[in-house]
Amino acid sequence: MNGARPIAVVTGGAGFIGSHMVDVLLAHGYRVRVVDNLSGGRIANLSPHKTNPDLSFEEADIRDIVPETSLVRGANYVLHFAGIGDIVPSIERPIEYMDTNIQGTVHVLEAARHARVAKFVYAASSSCYGIAATPTREDHPIAPQYPYALSKYQGEQAAFHWHRVYRLPVNSIRIFNAYGTRVRTTGAYGAVFGVFFKQKLAGKPFTVVGDGTQRRDFVYATDVAEAFRLAAETEKTGEIWNLGAGDPQPIDRLVELIGGPIVYIPKRPGEPDVTWADITKITRDLNWKPRVPFEKGVAQMMAEIHNWRDAPLWDPESIKLATKTWYDAMSAE
Ligand code: UDP
Repeated sequence: MNGARPIAVVTGGAGFIGSHMVDVLLAHGYRVRVVDNLSGGRIANLSPHKTNPDLSFEEADIRDIVPETSLVRGANYVLHFAGIGDIVPSIERPIEYMDTNIQGTVHVLEAARHARVAKFVYAASSSCYGIAATPTREDHPIAPQYPYALSKYQGEQAAFHWHRVYRLPVNSIRIFNAYGTRVRTTGAYGAVFGVFFKQKLAGKPFTVVGDGTQRRDFVYATDVAEAFRLAAETEKTGEIWNLGAGDPQPIDRLVELIGGPIVYIPKRPGEPDVTWADITKITRDLNWKPRVPFEKGVAQMMAEIHNWRDAPLWDPESIKLATKTWYDAMSAE
């Protein structure tokens, strides 16, 4: 960078992983520009940097970004996290998901191309693999099971299309189960941490799916953000990396760490017993490794459990209602 401080644009920077990304970049001396429409993100996630002149914030929808936008002009890197998540609403409102996660990505790609950035890093989802063989490598067959998964995969395809056609330097990281402070506290059913924390605060039993032996490759948000920084700074382009901790944890273990009574609810259709990233490639290429052990990550979240005070309280009945579309869509197979 010839001594100049690098500039990074973080789309979705007020969201869960995006805001951890902002923390990591500022700690590494970056100047950071956040663009977020605050649909899922919260400005409070950026409050640690309220008075930091190295951080600027623009409230905007990625679908409104024009190719010549000054938002990206002069930036070295674009880290693209903006998008919408969750399975059930994606089955109910697929157009919204395709529109934001694919077309929105195209708007950001065009801005990155015009600004001639040195790297565009796409936040992809491991859901593209469907019910996958484990540990899952990057060359595993692609089989999205619901519109959210499809939209994130198509967004990734768009990014690599810009790489091939316009020579935009692109890398993509397929994130497994990211967790950590600031994971969303409101909205649709899903994301086990918010569900369990609110149940804990309310003194209600944890709604454990199946028998609780299913495992997830939980990776802590700061470890995720660090991987994205390395994926931006590397000379490599055109790469895909799977990102998890590489050490899947049973849901029973999570329950044990939080502590409380349990009520069992039925397994959901199309739900994998294990998610498990093969992290050989990212470890080798980026010299990345997970640093936050599961116990420590959960403890860090527990220290902020009050943040889930206003989260919806789920119980077996309300979960049954909320997942009806999911069952209807997926048990037809
Ligand atoms: N889970 C659970 N009870 C809940 C919600 C989730 O036991 O009320 C489990 C679920 O079976 C899965 C894990 O927690 O094994 C993570 O679920 P989440 O929906 O957060 O992520 P995903 O299933 O997409 O990996």
